[in-house]
Amino acid sequence: MPSPSSAAPRAGPGVPLALARWRERHYRAPRYELAFRLRPGARSVSGTLQLAVTIPRGPLDLVLDWRGGPVNGVRVNGRTASPLYKNQHLVIPRRALKRGRNLLQLAFSAPVRAGGPLRRYRDARDGAEYLYTLLVPADASALFPCFDQPGLKGRFRLKLDLPKNWRAVANAPALEERTGFARFAETPPISTYLFAFAAGPFRVVTRKSEPVRLFVRQSRLARARAVAPALLRLNRAAMDRFARDCGHPFPFPKYDLVLIPDFHYGGMEHAGATFLREDRVLLRQPRSRYWRRRRALLLLHETAHQWMGNLVTMRWFDDLWLKEGFANYLAYGALQALALEFDGERAWAELTSSGRRAAAKPGAPALHAPLDNLAAARSVYTEIVYRTAPAVLRHAEREFGAARFRRALRSFVRRHAWGAVDWRDLVRALERATGRDLRPWARRRILQPDALAQGVPPTRAMGIQ
Ligand SMILES: [Zn+2]
Repeated sequence: MPSPSSAAPRAGPGVPLALARWRERHYRAPRYELAFRLRPGARSVSGTLQLAVTIPRGPLDLVLDWRGGPVNGVRVNGRTASPLYKNQHLVIPRRALKRGRNLLQLAFSAPVRAGGPLRRYRDARDGAEYLYTLLVPADASALFPCFDQPGLKGRFRLKLDLPKNWRAVANAPALEERTGFARFAETPPISTYLFAFAAGPFRVVTRKSEPVRLFVRQSRLARARAVAPALLRLNRAAMDRFARDCGHPFPFPKYDLVLIPDFHYGGMEHAGATFLREDRVLLRQPRSRYWRRRRALLLLHETAHQWMGNLVTMRWFDDLWLKEGFANYLAYGALQALALEFDGERAWAELTSSGRRAAAKPGAPALHAPLDNLAAARSVYTEIVYRTAPAVLRHAEREFGAARFRRALRSFVRRHAWGAVDWRDLVRALERATGRDLRPWARRRILQPDALAQGVPPTRAMGIQ
């Protein structure tokens, strides 16, 4: 534990809010250099970490989140060091550190298992094996020691030692890819929950004139080729539209879509590499309009997150509604404009009426949902953030005027690009664009549980004509 003379709060298990706030104040610009050795069938993966972090008012204890086993070979600023391990934190005492930039090196291992940070899929058709990460909301610290909070963004460099016939995809473009090895460029600043890689005997579908690649397991290559033209075309049109909506070009140097069989969610918007559940893209009922619309919305939602969530990130998961609300607001708007066969206006009406019903349920939370510890972050993934939040944003667009709302959205994205925000930053952007005091609006819409359901006649609140 931190010594009494250091300011680090005594940290219990998980990622407590007080620790996260303290680290945001005292640590700057973390740079993670990670290397993993991936082996087929292995129950664990070994890795090394070099972490550079600036402590401007140091020396102070360095408190990392770590839920794995023992670490070894620990060196701090070139010297052997002995970290303390307590309550799921790895603590380097301040006596080993200095003011300014510090360099920590260590080796670790992490499990490969269902439900873990690194998961395996074995293809029953050809016996091929695929490994992929899933770290949202706060499981990066089960894969490698880190500051596992969305508001303290870091740059990542990654090296993967791979079996002979595997290839890998990660957040950044590959700088080097050869048999058994891949090395990736450094990412821009991203939150730990957005770090990802996948590896295995993937095949890659590319199309002339399409900048985005589609990764698929080798046994599904033919089906992926069949859906790729329409999927990549819609995705490219959406990227152009979101860049205009947000007033910011696509944030990352490349973008891949990676199909993962049995993926736990419909999709996950890792920076520069969205993972999509394979059967939500390669449909079992390819002619079903319902499933094709869901596929389009899933793709648009995850791609919208590259701006709303990945470029501009909620500082803490109490404002999850910001990224999920805007992802659906942008996705449904894009469906309406770009995929005319799906009747986007009706899709909006369905979303907003289910958002209103969710808000009217007894005990429904507010959009902003206080959260003391990221160990409980899964509890904030509710219908409120996915359905009520976009309805509130659409209502705000109607209430304040489309042009002003767009101006607010662009100023919000530009001002906070690569940074982290909370709900107040959005309210300030809306106030700048409208010239109004919106604190009463924020109380009613963002901080109170059921204002959308009770305070406004439903048709007006939902913007449904
Ligand atoms: Zn989402």
